[in-house]
Amino acid sequence: MPRNKVHFRPQQFASDNYSGICPEAFEAMARVNTGHELAYGNDRWTAEACDLFRELFEAECEVFFVFSGTAGNSLALASLCQPYHSIICHRYAHVETDECGAPEFFSHGAKLLLAEGEMGLMDPVSLEQIVTKRTDIHYPKPKAVTLTQATELGTVYSRERLLEISRVCRNHSLKLHMDGARFSNAVVSLGITPRQITVDCGVDVLVFGGSKNGLCQGEAVVFFNTAAAEEFEYRCKQAGQLAAKMRFVAAQWLGVLKTGAWLRHAKHANDCAAELERHLLTIPEIEIILPRQANSVFVRMPDEIVGAMREKGWLFYTFIGLGEARLMCSWDTTEEAIVAFVHDLKEAVAASGLAR
Ligand SMILES: *Cc1c(COP(=O)(O)O)cnc(C)c1O
Repeated sequence: MPRNKVHFRPQQFASDNYSGICPEAFEAMARVNTGHELAYGNDRWTAEACDLFRELFEAECEVFFVFSGTAGNSLALASLCQPYHSIICHRYAHVETDECGAPEFFSHGAKLLLAEGEMGLMDPVSLEQIVTKRTDIHYPKPKAVTLTQATELGTVYSRERLLEISRVCRNHSLKLHMDGARFSNAVVSLGITPRQITVDCGVDVLVFGGSKNGLCQGEAVVFFNTAAAEEFEYRCKQAGQLAAKMRFVAAQWLGVLKTGAWLRHAKHANDCAAELERHLLTIPEIEIILPRQANSVFVRMPDEIVGAMREKGWLFYTFIGLGEARLMCSWDTTEEAIVAFVHDLKEAVAASGLAR
């Protein structure tokens, strides 16, 4: 997306990864920036961070840090599958639409099969149909299911829906992977403990996102199925995902987990989306098309309004899911940015002649 030099806004609603590093993570990195330390994750802060995840999930888990969500998802899925297996995901899943084939690449050929489901949520019936459609040797054998929590369409899986899907997985011996790029936003939205929507729902591995919630980088791959984590460190190293200066990745997690900032920031982002939605509801020409459950608002915006907003320097995605406008809030979204956006939107609607 070209950067418009004249109007570029200090805050955008394009993605939560447009934001910077939160102070809790930044300061934590500075605190560990003293002297020499063991490399490649053999330092004490990495060990401490891994223990914190065990506390947070109230479970024995194996934790690894990688540079991106794409790497985390692909390597985690590869660890659950052989090349002749298939992985069932939602039609709009990030692994299908936005990872450049990385899951297929790192699994050496496992095929993604696309399930249906309203509002970005996988339908257990659709899952069951895909899994039972074929049992012959000519079709890749279903082995894993991946869910995104919160979803690409800004919705959140309820615990009940997760348990339903988990039941299908158990019945068909499927492993369950969770893409948690916005896991924190989902936890806040549901007002539930992290364990209740992972371990308790049979999730084998969670990729817990940090970069969209205030970290610079370092998504955490959390294996609740510890057997599946065997030799995962080799996968990470081979894929170029083992940070030499791991202490700075671990420190960021320590910074946000110890202070509760991971929840505070996610709550702020969710609250901002709610605030933005309240404003948008006052503009009848802008239709809200999905329930707002996390930190985004999806709206139907006529092309000429999209164009006018771009002219005013606003960036937002129009290629996610159904191709509507996605307005995404982040840990640092300000009230002023929301007000300025809505002001410009009202102006654009009035100038377009579309105003009712
Ligand atoms: C952002 C995102 C990711 C990770 O993306 P990277 O750019 O590879 O870090 C994964 N899944 C979802 C749903 C995302 O929104």
